[in-house]
Amino acid sequence: MRRTEDDQRFMNMAIAQAAMAAALDEVPVGAIVVKDGEVLASAHNLRQTNADPTAHAEILAIRQAAEKLGTWYLVGCTLYVTLEPCPMCAGALVNARIDRLVYGATDPKAGAVRSLYAICEDSRLNHRIEVTPGVLAGPCSRILSDFFSRLRSKSNNEHENRQPTHDAHENNEIQQTNETRQTDETRQTNETRQTDETRQTDETKQTDGAEQKNETEQKTAES
Ligand SMILES: [Zn+2]
Repeated sequence: MRRTEDDQRFMNMAIAQAAMAAALDEVPVGAIVVKDGEVLASAHNLRQTNADPTAHAEILAIRQAAEKLGTWYLVGCTLYVTLEPCPMCAGALVNARIDRLVYGATDPKAGAVRSLYAICEDSRLNHRIEVTPGVLAGPCSRILSDFFSRLRSKSNNEHENRQPTHDAHENNEIQQTNETRQTDETRQTNETRQTDETRQTDETKQTDGAEQKNETEQKTAES
């Protein structure tokens, strides 16, 4: 019970961080690192602000915590994050040897802890992390959906100033278009491959047939 209360308390701090990201027009994800009940680090997504694709909340929080402890080795630490970590962040958590991960909302499109991969619990890697998913999942996902609906209405209002966004969650339309394009490309590639294969098979057949015919002719000539 004590743990559940602590988890909710720290997750609320991560949500407050996510709100700070939203205020900067950043995708609202917040993270907290805790050791022995003490908050070592708190950070939010700063990808746009820092023009840094690695400036996810988790990475920034891990860096802060490591700096505070004076070691890369975050043993005994728990990371709280509002959204299921992506492959990069899940990998960073394993590399930091963090003890425990608590996350809020599930990310079916990029989550690498339970949704697409299980990087934190993969027995092939040299470290495994205790995972607690779904803590305050409602408020964690609401802050994201509010942000994206605000972004959509904003982009509908300012159609000319519309900037394409590059986040998996940011624009479903862009993603759908990309998916359609990928499917078309894949189909084309497959068609090309099939055509090539068919041609090769035909050529092989022709060559084989021609050789056989030659052999037969030779044999006939010999006898
Ligand atoms: Zn990430």
